Order: sequence, then C-alpha cells, then structure tokens
Amino acid sequence: MSAQPDGPEDRLRRLTTIWSRAVFPVTSTSLTRPEFEEQLLPLARRLSRALRARAFDAAEGEAVGAALVDAHCTAPEALSRSLDCVDAYLVLYCGEDGDQEDLRARSSRLQHAMAAGFARALRERTLAEQEAIAQAALRAQGVVAQALHASEARFRAVFEGAAIGIGIADLEGNILQVNGALLRMFGGSEQTMRGRKVQEWTHAEDAPQIWRLYEELVRGEREHYHVEKAFYRPDGTVLWTNLTVSLLRDADNNPQYQLALMEDTTERRLLNLRLRYEATHDALTGLPNRTLFFERLEKTLNSGEGRRFGLCYLDLDGFKTINDSLGHAAGDRLLVEVADRLQSCATAPGEMVARLGGDEFVALTTGPDSRREVDELAARIMNALVAPIRIDGRELTVRGSIGVVEGPVGERSAAEVLRSADITMYRAKSAGGNRFELADPEADARAITRHGLTTALPAALDRGEFFIEYQPLVRLGDGSVRGAEALVRWLHPQHGVLGPDRFIPLAEHTGLIVPLGRWVMEQSVRQAGKWRELYGDGAEGSLRINVNLSPCQLQHPGLVQDTVDILERTGVAPDALCLEVTESALIGADDDVLKPLHRLAEMGVDIALDDFGTGYSNLANLRRLPVSVLKLDRSFTRSMQQFPADPVDLKIVEGIVALAHSLDLAVTVEGVETGAQAEQLRILGCDTAQGWYYARPGPPDRLHELALADATG
Ligand code: C2E
Ligand code: CA
Ligand code: CA
Repeated sequence: MSAQPDGPEDRLRRLTTIWSRAVFPVTSTSLTRPEFEEQLLPLARRLSRALRARAFDAAEGEAVGAALVDAHCTAPEALSRSLDCVDAYLVLYCGEDGDQEDLRARSSRLQHAMAAGFARALRERTLAEQEAIAQAALRAQGVVAQALHASEARFRAVFEGAAIGIGIADLEGNILQVNGALLRMFGGSEQTMRGRKVQEWTHAEDAPQIWRLYEELVRGEREHYHVEKAFYRPDGTVLWTNLTVSLLRDADNNPQYQLALMEDTTERRLLNLRLRYEATHDALTGLPNRTLFFERLEKTLNSGEGRRFGLCYLDLDGFKTINDSLGHAAGDRLLVEVADRLQSCATAPGEMVARLGGDEFVALTTGPDSRREVDELAARIMNALVAPIRIDGRELTVRGSIGVVEGPVGERSAAEVLRSADITMYRAKSAGGNRFELADPEADARAITRHGLTTALPAALDRGEFFIEYQPLVRLGDGSVRGAEALVRWLHPQHGVLGPDRFIPLAEHTGLIVPLGRWVMEQSVRQAGKWRELYGDGAEGSLRINVNLSPCQLQHPGLVQDTVDILERTGVAPDALCLEVTESALIGADDDVLKPLHRLAEMGVDIALDDFGTGYSNLANLRRLPVSVLKLDRSFTRSMQQFPADPVDLKIVEGIVALAHSLDLAVTVEGVETGAQAEQLRILGCDTAQGWYYARPGPPDRLHELALADATG
C-alpha cells in the first residue's frame, strides 16, 4: 500500500471509477459494475498516455473509441457520457504537470478521435451483425428445404450451427424441430419444446394481426410474415424477438411445414426502454422531465373536445440563495425533498408532476372538474412546502410561487400554455412570492411582448436595429424650417418598426436608455452638423436638432461629459443642440438634478420643457429652471381641432404664451395637423410648430427638401 494517497495510479483509478459510473447504466453488458470498470482501466491508461506523449497520436483516441464498442458500449449515450467524462476529468487527473492549455487542446483532440473511432467501429459491427443474420437465415432456409429431400445428418449440422433461433412446425402447429440457439433463447430443454403447439405461445402483448397472419400462412394463403413478438420463457421471464415465419412447400408445391427464424431483441429492447426512461426522467429527482411533461401536455391538449386541463407552474422562492450559501449538494437534496413532497400532492388519476429544470416544477391535472381541482392542487402544493426541510442539521424554510393556467383543451399549444403559466408565476413572484396566481390572458399578452422586448433590447443596440426619424420644427411666422426633433425607432426583426412608446419605458427600466440615449444624441448631432454644412447659417440662425432626454439620463452622472464629448467629436456648436426634458421630470427636482442642466445651458445648449401643461405646473417655478423653450403638449393643439375652438383653452394658451415670453422663453407647439390650427396658434403668438401638417417624422433627407424649399422660395 502506498503511503502517498494520491499517486498517478490512484488518480487514474479515480478517473476510471467516474467513467464507469457514468457509462455503465447505458451499457448492455453482463458484467458487474466493478468488472466493467476493470475493462475501462486500460482504456483510461491509454488516454492518459496519449495525453502526455511527446508526439500526439490521434490513433490512440480512435482505438479507445473502437474499444468502447467492443465493450458493448454501443448506445450513443455511452459515447457522449464518455466524452463528457474525458472532457471534465482527463486533464484534471492525468495532466497535473504540464501546460494546462496544451493539455486541454490535446484532450479535446482525443475526444474527437474517440468519437470517430466509435462511429467507425459501430458501423462495422452493425454491418457484420446484419450480414451474419442474413447469411444464417439464407443458409437455414435453403438447408431446410434441402433437408426435406437430403440427409438428416447434414441438415442437423447446419441447423444447429446457425446463430439465430430456428424452429420447424407442421401446419397444425406441432413443433418438430428447434435448434440450439432457439433453446438458449428460451432457456428450456428440447423436451419442453417438442410436443408443444405453436398456438400455445400467445403473449399478452401480441399485436392483433399476429395470429391472423399465422392463420393465413398455415392455410397457404401467404408465403411469410415478419413481426415483433414476445414469448414467455419457462421461468416466466419475457423473451422479445424479431420473428420471421415462412411457409415451406413440398416438391409438388403443397404447403407442408412452417419455418420460424427468430432473433433475440430482449436486450436491445431493454436498452431502449432504459434509454427512453433516462431521456424522459430527471436524474436527480426521478420525476418525469420536461420532455415527458411536454408529451403528456400535448396529448392532453389534443384530446377530445369538451375536456379541460389545469396546470401549476412552481418556482421556488429564493432557491438561488440556498444554493449559493449552502452549496450545490445541499441544494440538490432540497430539490429531491421538494420533488417527493410534490409527488405526494398529485396522486389522483390524470395528475402528474414533473421537473422542468433548476427549481422549476409543474403539476398537471386533467380531471373532469379541472377548475376546482387545479385550485386544490395549487393549495396542496403550497401546503406541502410549509413544513421546513432539514438539511445538514439546518431547518430550511422553502416557499414557492405558482402560476396556474386552467382552460379548455384544443385552444392553445403546449408551449403557449407553459409560457402563460411561466408569466403568471412571475406575476405571483413579483407580488411578493409564496402564493399562487391564476393566468389572465390579457395580462399575458401584454407581458409576453414586454418580456420579449426587454430581453431583446441590449442586443438590438449592438446589432444596429435602432434608427432615427426627424420631424421638422417650423417657424410659425414665415413657415421656414427651424430644425427637427429626433425620434428614435426600433426595427425589430419580428415585430417590424416599433415606436418609442413601446420600448423607451423598457429601456428606462433596464438602464439601457443611457447607452441608447447617447447613441441617439451622437447620431442626431452628427446629422445636424451635416445640415449646417449644407445650408450654412440662415438669416435667422442655423438649423437645430432637438433630442429627447429621459429622466434616467438626467440622473446619470455622465450626462454633461457625454454631451461635451459628442459635440467635440462631431465638431458641432452647442447651439445646434436642444435637449427636450419633460415637465414631470423637473417638477420638484432638487439642485442636484438641475445642476447638469445648468452646466449644459451655460455651454450654449438649449433646454426645452417638453409636454408642458400635462403635469402639475407651477408657472412661477419656471424661473428656477435653466429652460429656454416651452413645448406645449399636444392636448392643447387637439382642443383647437374643432371649430370654433374652446374659448377657455384659447385663453389658457394665450396666457401661457404671454408668461413664457415675459420669462424670455420661446414657445413651440406640437401636434399641428391642420392649417387652421397653425393659423390659430400663430395668432396666439406661438413661435414654432411641429406636426403632421408640416411633415411626419421621416428620414433626414426629407428635411433637406423642406429646407431647400425655404432657401429657394
Ligand atoms: P414627444 O417628445 O412628445 O414626441 C412627439 C410625438 O408626437 C412623436 O411620437 C411624434 O411622432 C408625434 N407627433 C408629431 N406630430 C404629430 C401630429 O401632428 N399628430 C399626432 N397625433 N402626433 C404627432 P413618437 O415618435 O411616437 O414619440 C413618442 C415619444 O417617445 C416622444 O414624445 C418622446 O417622449 C419619446 N421619444 C422619442 N424618441 C426618443 C429618444 O430618442 N429618447 C427618449 N428618451 N425619448 C424619446
Ligand atoms: Ca419631445
Ligand atoms: Ca412632447
């Protein structure tokens, strides 16, 4: 025994143990796990040597891949698990004294080689197997036919030597001959076989057509048939076979015997069942997994009309904290316990619990009164979580949030139902958690796009999906173009062009508004620079660009610096820029918020108070603000649409304009849609206007047209 507990040999051993544990469950071998591990040990050693060999040799990896096939690790799962294991542990256990990056590169080349070797060996093996069976069948059939005329001795030799099971019976079904392979499959003696009748070999899982085909064959109406059939062995276990039965005729072509060829598929079937089980169950908790759950849900949703279903989507509250603080092992045990408790909540027929992944579980009910049942199910689940869970001597309190969806089948797809449940669960969570909520399709529809847009926002900026439209600002006095307001749009790959009302609130919420706003400012200032180059300084000053600022941007410490940087980078004078800030963002604003605006105003940037008149307006307050423009909200213009306009509204606008002018503020009006409005507003003394009457927001060159018309007209 080595005193050193952790020598290279020990480490190699440990790697092999992990490997065999991973692969053994998907291997159809008669070996025990420790025996299997012994088989893997030389393979692990080979990989370890190849990893550290002076010259890299891919053939070593290929040989190991082929050896896996020889060791009956033929399931694709066996390969992928082996590769996972090599990927995770080979360098760790066998490459302690080398350049880690080098070793990792080698390890992945070895994995590629293993996969290639595996695939080649498997293909060769399958071909060889098929060839052998075909040969045997041919030989057997030919030989039996001959045997009817030739010597009994020669017949028996080949018959016995065949690799697949062969039996001969007469047309009444009396079994006359069976070969050794068939006896081995059944595990019986020749005595127990002979004298029995074919018709006795029924099995509960016989497909209905099996015996119809049999009858047709023995009546001489069919030459052969091929089925998958199970048999009971004498010891009660089940043998599954691929069975081919052929009719043998005598020299005068009269039906005489039936010949059965059978291939034992029991193991393959078991393997498939096990693979299917593994593919449909969660390894940690043993619960059905997402795949199986989807299958069941889809089946339910496609079941007959008039049926209903109910679904609970559970997400544990604060599981991440438990996982992070107590470790993954404790987290896993907690999930296992939760799974057990959930399982005991859904025991009625038509009920099912599954784990979707992480700390997310679902329970489905398909009973006749699903409205009531799903409510009770959710209540049972909440109740099952109440008792604390003991882990490592600690009592952990687990809470969960559940989204409940209930409804008739046939209306929505499984994915839609699950998404609705997911969204509802989030609603339960944001309401404080530890509760269940019932899905509300309207709230869902809002949340789906909200949720979807929010997650797509950051990438959209990187991918250049935003663009800016410019809407002209026109002087009411002479109709000349004063400048334009920059309005951002999102060309969403699925939803098409989205207006700012759809995503600006989300961008504010997620903080993306800061980089997005910076981008808008830079683009539009650059554009203003181009216009100024094109048209020079007009009689009443050059064109100006209005850029909207969100309240978040106002709070952002980088605002002044970013603006200065942009103006410097683009070489555009500060008076080309007007920042629009909403009235509501400035109401009650303290000096900290106003300071950056003051700084910008001092530099020569204009500040406009946007949507003026929508909030609580303390006109006297305007004096405090570094504002040079008031933008009257569209609601004022709207009230001028009918004729004659409401005289009170007219008076208000007149008053505002007078006050603004007395404070040295210019007045801009928004939403001018008709010539009558424009005329009215001009009479009231407004300075500039913006609206569809002049132009809708559009590409930058549309402003060129207007401005050019000015210059020439
Ligand atoms: P806003 O600043 O009040 O912009 C004026 C809105 O009125 C624009 O809507 C414009 O298209 C629309 N409009 C212009 N003329 C007319 C008209 O004659 N009739 C009618 N009915 N509407 C007219 P839009 O482009 O949907 O912008 C909505 C809001 O989104 C803007 O309101 C602004 O607050 C915000 N926004 C737009 N771009 C940005 C941006 O780059 N950053 C920030 N933070 N907000 C922006
Ligand atoms: Ca605006
Ligand atoms: Ca506005």
